[in-house]
Amino acid sequence: MSEDRDFYKELIDNLYDGVYFVDRDRVITYWNKGAERITGYNAGHTIGHSCRENLLNHVTANGVQLCLTNCPLAACMEDGNVREAEVFLHHADGHRLPVVVRAAPLRDDHGEIIGAVETFSNNNNVITARRELREMRFKAFTDHLTNIPNRRYMEGRLRAAIAQYSGLTGGAGLLFIDVDHFKKLNDLHGHEVGDKVLRMVANSLMLNLRATDTVGRWGGEEFLVILHDVQTVEALEQIAAKLSTLVACSRLDLDDQSLCVTISVGATLLRPGDTPEIFVRRADQLMYQSKQAGRNRVTIG
Ligand code: GH3
Ligand code: MG
Ligand code: MG
Repeated sequence: MSEDRDFYKELIDNLYDGVYFVDRDRVITYWNKGAERITGYNAGHTIGHSCRENLLNHVTANGVQLCLTNCPLAACMEDGNVREAEVFLHHADGHRLPVVVRAAPLRDDHGEIIGAVETFSNNNNVITARRELREMRFKAFTDHLTNIPNRRYMEGRLRAAIAQYSGLTGGAGLLFIDVDHFKKLNDLHGHEVGDKVLRMVANSLMLNLRATDTVGRWGGEEFLVILHDVQTVEALEQIAAKLSTLVACSRLDLDDQSLCVTISVGATLLRPGDTPEIFVRRADQLMYQSKQAGRNRVTIG
């Protein structure tokens, strides 16, 4: 009998899942190695304590304290039915860990319920699904060439900025940026070098913005910058000039030569009644005026 017990104890100890037993008073009588691994608490910490004391501190996604109010172990000992739930347990390191718990009654030879067993496992499906969703979102809103936000993301940010500042003049500013003579650069040095230049421009823009501002790739060699909290044309001009200068001072070093590019910028403040389309079109037309005037300049309007 004792050999049998050792065999089963070792078996349960070596399960990947966490397993623990409680008696009818919900006092923990057994806590396997899997439970130690998943929760960070060892058997010495848990055995002999009642889970009624909220030792395990299971909560639902809404923050309901299950151990105090709605314990699946207590419920399955009441009616003899197995229960399964997604809960968030307290890890010894402090964080909340999503697990799926399964509570089942334990019976003696006469069928009397003498306790319950709970098994739980890392809810890897949930964790993986969430990570995938985050990655998918990230991919859906990122330009793959430059790794900065893409047009779709910028369209959303434009709508949000307009909603935030609705009815006000100023507050949000927009820069429409187009790389000068980029076709010539592609023709002279090849598309791959052109791609490197686009990445260089994107980084010089992104790294020199304030934390509240957003840059994205609007298309080909065009970028959009949404600025927050700009009240005056002077402030707008200052930011646009700084970015233009820093892009012009950026330099791609190749084996045999170095490449620099300039940008033409159209800059405008949000006006009452602007839609994303009107706002962008105005900035685009101002950028076009910069081209007409000789490129490598900022036109404000
Ligand atoms: P301008 O000063 O008037 O803006 O002249 P431009 O040559 O920059 O303007 P144009 O619109 O004629 O050319 C843009 C070029 O950008 C053409 C296209 O081949 C190139 N381009 C668009 N997307 C990419 C890309 O992803 N990679 C590379 N390498 N080139 C691109
Ligand atoms: Mg263009
Ligand atoms: Mg261009």
